[in-house]
Amino acid sequence: MNFYEYYIERLQKRIKKIEENPDPTKLKSNKIRYEMQLELAQEQLEAWRTGKPFSEGGGFMAGTLVRAMGFIPTGSVGSAYITGEPDKYLEEARTRGLPVDNSCDMTSMPFAMAECGDMPKEDLYICDQHACTPMLLSHIFTSHSQKQHTFSIDVGFQEDEANLKHVTRQLEAFIEFAERAFPGMVKYDETKLVELQGYEEEARQYGLEMYEMRKHKPSPIAGYDAFTGMYGATTPKGVEYAKVRRDEMAERIGKGIAGVPGERLRILWSVTRPFFMNPFHVLAKNKASVIYFYSGPSGLVTPLPKPDYWKRKLSPLEKVAANVMRSTWGGTGKKWVDGMVWVAKDLDVDAVINYCMLGCTATLGLRKLTEDAMEKELGIPVLQLEGKQWDRDYASEATLTNRLEEFAQMCLERKTSG
Ligand code: SF4
Repeated sequence: MNFYEYYIERLQKRIKKIEENPDPTKLKSNKIRYEMQLELAQEQLEAWRTGKPFSEGGGFMAGTLVRAMGFIPTGSVGSAYITGEPDKYLEEARTRGLPVDNSCDMTSMPFAMAECGDMPKEDLYICDQHACTPMLLSHIFTSHSQKQHTFSIDVGFQEDEANLKHVTRQLEAFIEFAERAFPGMVKYDETKLVELQGYEEEARQYGLEMYEMRKHKPSPIAGYDAFTGMYGATTPKGVEYAKVRRDEMAERIGKGIAGVPGERLRILWSVTRPFFMNPFHVLAKNKASVIYFYSGPSGLVTPLPKPDYWKRKLSPLEKVAANVMRSTWGGTGKKWVDGMVWVAKDLDVDAVINYCMLGCTATLGLRKLTEDAMEKELGIPVLQLEGKQWDRDYASEATLTNRLEEFAQMCLERKTSG
């Protein structure tokens, strides 16, 4: 059974379970999210069987653009998050010489999944530095070792008109390249791009409303729910999901339902998290509610102060460029830290959990700056939680649970005495 077949089966079971025996403690809108994911997985499986070209478009870089051109996304690291066989892929990556044990484990896994024949290879990789270094290197490595196409896009640090034009011109060159490389299969369709961006923007508006609702005390959602449903959608189903979830959050506020009943601590979680365990149980036991996840694409659904070019009407391709320039990854450390402090203040959190992912070149160098800025600007503590995403040998479930427990206790004492 390949990855899509496995995932389709898993989603179908989940949907059936919700229909037959819904868990009242979970968000009802989760069912629509599973249906949305099922729709995509079925499309991916069909595309693989019929030989359609695959590309992620660099994920948040040009994911919408490549969709509008006729590519299908593989799922990339998104598939690695939800695989049922992480150890098999980690071992495969290790065997092939990838630095699984001293770098970000998740970035190796899409390669291993494709090598095992469980997921298709991407036919065209977009490489750009808004992705972290391990991600960028894994794209280059994968494209060379699997003999697929690579297209590199340079995204400058400045969020200004000159950079916007610079990125837009490269997207035009990318379109030309892709149409030449996949004649008859891939064609830029601006009408399609506008349609997809329409869904994306509508869902983003709901996303911004949901962001505002997280300010409510207690927060209507917490834990896993703070990690899902954050980013834009590119289908009507995705818009429906965002709208229903927005309504559900409003309803929870109206009825006084909290993500963590009796919430005493509000926490911002950053970078990534362990996928082999639930780190939120122990926090919830201490009345600590993780209300927001800060990561690269957070800027897309968070009202961070916007650069000037957003104030004028952008062309469809400029919108693609503007989105990637909003990413807090691949920019300056100042952009990452300032954005996190802005959100922590805006949502009035009591503490930050900074997941120190082994080998994460994008964020590890910023851990001290983050800690100092949170203490200086807001007087709140930061837990530097060292771990990996799937590989539990580096920091086990017991180790992480103990550290989370100690931190929650310390925050509670600090809050009580302060
Ligand atoms: S955890 Fe860090 S190194 Fe790994 S994919 Fe995310 S940003 Fe990249």
